[in-house]
Amino acid sequence: MNTQTLNVKRKFERRRKWFLILQLLSFTVFLLLFVVDPGDSLLPGVSSSLILSIILGVLLLNPILSLLIWRCPSCGHLLGRSCNLKHCRHCGVRLEE
Ligand SMILES: [Zn+2]
Repeated sequence: MNTQTLNVKRKFERRRKWFLILQLLSFTVFLLLFVVDPGDSLLPGVSSSLILSIILGVLLLNPILSLLIWRCPSCGHLLGRSCNLKHCRHCGVRLEE
């Protein structure tokens, strides 16, 4: 395995890790939407409107950050919705074993 291939795979693993963290964070924050009561505070000293603003901010940033992160490390094209990719569908570079 040459250095360039190794670099692509390392970058892909890093991007996948951040993409999964982002999706997990967004899902968790989405679930919080059902817990937060606008009239009552979830955390002492923190207003529910601030919590709702943070939740909405994360949910709005998710698609933007996903578009920036979830790209082929070799050609830069979007990788689609699946996290389990063996190859880039655009350039064909191998992304994992
Ligand atoms: Zn590619």
